[in-house]
Amino acid sequence: MDKIQMTTPLVEMDGDEMTRILWQIIKDELILPFVDLKSEYYDLGLKMRNDTDDKITVDAAEATKKYGVAVKCATITPNAARVEEYGLKEMWKSPNGTIRAILDGTVFRAPIIVKGIDPCVKNWKKPITIARHAYGDVYKASEMKIPGPGKVELVYIAADGQETRTLVHDFNCAGVVQGQYNLVPSIESFARSCFNFALDVKQDIWFAAKDTISKQYDHTFKDVFEEIFEKEYKERFDAAGIEYFYTLIDDAVARVMKSEGGFIWACKNYDGDVMSDMLSSAFGSLAMMTSVLVSPQGFFEYEAAHGTVQRHYYKHLKGEETSTNSVATIFAWTGALKKRGELDGNDALVDFAAKLEKACILTIEDGKMTGDLARITSIENPVTLSSEAFIKAVREKLEGLL
Ligand code: NAP
Ligand code: MG
Repeated sequence: MDKIQMTTPLVEMDGDEMTRILWQIIKDELILPFVDLKSEYYDLGLKMRNDTDDKITVDAAEATKKYGVAVKCATITPNAARVEEYGLKEMWKSPNGTIRAILDGTVFRAPIIVKGIDPCVKNWKKPITIARHAYGDVYKASEMKIPGPGKVELVYIAADGQETRTLVHDFNCAGVVQGQYNLVPSIESFARSCFNFALDVKQDIWFAAKDTISKQYDHTFKDVFEEIFEKEYKERFDAAGIEYFYTLIDDAVARVMKSEGGFIWACKNYDGDVMSDMLSSAFGSLAMMTSVLVSPQGFFEYEAAHGTVQRHYYKHLKGEETSTNSVATIFAWTGALKKRGELDGNDALVDFAAKLEKACILTIEDGKMTGDLARITSIENPVTLSSEAFIKAVREKLEGLL
């Protein structure tokens, strides 16, 4: 078989620990034998980020703007322990945060549904997609420990020097304080990304926040969504037979539990972080969740929703066999290849990506899976495969489909 040709490169961002190991096996077994891969490679592994003072992350994000499509491996977000472990010059920021800030996107996360991995919530029949605003709020907050009695105020100094102040709290003891912000253009992009995505997949979209308590901050989000929807999207939603509505976050949580799925749930940054972990666990496994950052300019960055699976990596380093689920990372590749194919009018590439996804699903439905799924599947007598054996089983299926 001739390899599938690509016309435009995609941006490849390598990462850390166990997912970096999987990355290489996925490329060797599932991509390179079939596709004449054109990629611009950026090593976002922690060592390289440290060596380049994190410039590599910014370069990778800029390259995504140039080529439009990227695929990213999970990366370590350093904490104090990592600074010591890797001898870091600094506690570098989260690469995902840096990339999101540059691309100004919304992250859409959806579970990968397979027969035999049943959601904990028995009425969920279809995937629920979380749209997470990927900018600002607590992720860009400034914080302070308040040592003892004294006043904390928010002060806005306008460009002309005029000051507006509001009291946060008059402390009579020690405490903590946090200043968050967001930008109206970013909220507008968030709203448009959500409405575009809903039209693209023809699903209803809900947006939820806490405007009853946060009368300025969250209310601004609600108002921006409402205004953009009414002005720019209502007619197209009516024509597509889909719906947008706003509700309080607590009401949304209750409704989600009672629903049968098949919609998009737009969340503010923190809610999206937490709720996507809840949904992925309830749908089966963190390792069965896809994630794509969609920027308002139409740039796409695909990744797995889980982290670098550190515990498995340490086992791997000790020479022990691991059974780490590579499905979400494979789907990051298929998402990127499919989008590259769509943008370039490359049907062969789109078709290949769809078959690779199908091969993953069929392999699991045949009862061959990694330990995380074997523990929860309703399939009888599942075969638990090692990290590498699972990818090889997917390759065998893929060869059958091609
Ligand atoms: P994690 O890597 O998602 O793993 C947490 C646990 O979930 C694992 O120990 C494992 O459970 C299970 N798990 C996750 N993915 C799995 C997979 N593919 N196959 C099988 N089991 C899987 O989260 P973490 O351990 O909290 O974080 C590790 C590092 O990842 C951190 O440095 C963090 O900064 C980084 N991180 C990166 C991203 C990203 O780049 N997008 C996202 C989150 C975290 P068992 O141990 O029980 O098997
Ligand atoms: Mg999270």
